[in-house]
Amino acid sequence: MSIKADVIIGLEVHIQLTNLKTKLFCSCSNDYRGGDANTHICPICLGLPGSLPVVNKKAIEFATRLALALECDINDSFWFYRKNYFYPDMAKNFQISQYNKAGGKAFADGGKITIKLNGKKDIKLNRIHLEEDPARLVHKGTIATSPYTLVDYNRSGVTLIEIVSEPVISTPEEAREYLKQLKSIVQYCGISNLDLEGSVRVDANVSLKGHPRSEVKNINSFKEVERALKWEIQRQINQLKRGKELIQETRHWDDKRRITISLRTKEFEQDYRYFPEQDLVPIEVDNDFISRVKKELPEMPNERAKRFQKQYELSEFDSEILVLDKDIADLFEDGIKLDKSFGPEQYKLYCNWLMGDISRWLNENNKTILETKLNPQHIVDLIKFIQEGRITGKIGKSLVNEIMTKGTSITDILKKTGKKRISDKKKISEIVRDVIEENPDIVEDYKTNPKALQALIGECMKKTKGQIDPEITKDIMLKLLKN
Ligand SMILES: [Zn+2]
Repeated sequence: MSIKADVIIGLEVHIQLTNLKTKLFCSCSNDYRGGDANTHICPICLGLPGSLPVVNKKAIEFATRLALALECDINDSFWFYRKNYFYPDMAKNFQISQYNKAGGKAFADGGKITIKLNGKKDIKLNRIHLEEDPARLVHKGTIATSPYTLVDYNRSGVTLIEIVSEPVISTPEEAREYLKQLKSIVQYCGISNLDLEGSVRVDANVSLKGHPRSEVKNINSFKEVERALKWEIQRQINQLKRGKELIQETRHWDDKRRITISLRTKEFEQDYRYFPEQDLVPIEVDNDFISRVKKELPEMPNERAKRFQKQYELSEFDSEILVLDKDIADLFEDGIKLDKSFGPEQYKLYCNWLMGDISRWLNENNKTILETKLNPQHIVDLIKFIQEGRITGKIGKSLVNEIMTKGTSITDILKKTGKKRISDKKKISEIVRDVIEENPDIVEDYKTNPKALQALIGECMKKTKGQIDPEITKDIMLKLLKN
């Protein structure tokens, strides 16, 4: 039996507002990373009886920035709510959150994130709301096999913003694009650094049309989401193929074994016994406040991409990728201004370096651009040196690692390594002759397969450690092979 089912995905993304200095309801440091366990705590974030929470105004401002960037409708007044449940990560047995029913309101409703995969699609949002992060449970190994659990309350009370999408995401790939755009917008809003470990958690509601959904909890990085979704969809399809019915349940994504495991059958909303948090006054977000925040909001990635197309004559594709990471886009704009002779041709080359070799290096080394020693002048020099014929593109590429790790200037690296472009025709002819002599197999192959020419040029490159000019080599190679 083949099962062809429509997949329905809704995402609940929890983002820590890591750029805040203090927690959501107390003045403890928001930066719990790296500290000794249970040192950034006070009676409020420990939930001791009699302690009174006070809302962090900056957290409201950050939420407003994000709500504006996502085009949500901000509610002008709301209560925080208590979400009651017992779990060791929650000392007071309730989490201060928001609730959009029974008279309660989210921070903001609606909004959208536009993705581009096969054409444009607006992923509609249901709401965003603020809540406090629970403490951190520390397991030995995996949650399923750990012999004990430790609790670190440093994280307790850190501000989370939850972004809830409508269940309108149809594939794991769409989910990936959605999160990519969301990450970018959050970075531009200046509210969080999502590259920090533990700064995002995603819960995914996944179902096949007409069947109960499962909620996959605690996917701890954006990169894992696509993988977890693929696995869970396949699991559900397999269940149906075996003639089993699906049940509504909560599952845990085990990122070490890369499977979802059943945690419990799904609890229902009434189990949480939501009621207004009477220790806090209602929050009012007035229009003056909203307009002030709006005025200070920087240019968002989609507007910036449009400007890049106009101002720098980059293609739509290049612009949209280039602006995704604000720090990379900033480096681009800083760099191209450094040389007055640069125009659209160099802008495109500058973009290519950032999107090509530099991004590849960042991915391979799992670093962000600010964690490297790269500065805007490096790429200016690479472009100029290659255009002036002082080095080949190949040499340029070979310098990337040293630039990124040590920040050495291009001139200094070249002085040190003695690398320069070989363009002397006599010298190139000698090298080409040697290569032809040393590689009779490839030369033979070339007679029936013109593509083998590349292999011969590659041999010349190898011999000269990338210094030989590929164009001149090609001309000479073609001439000599004719004889
Ligand atoms: Zn505290």
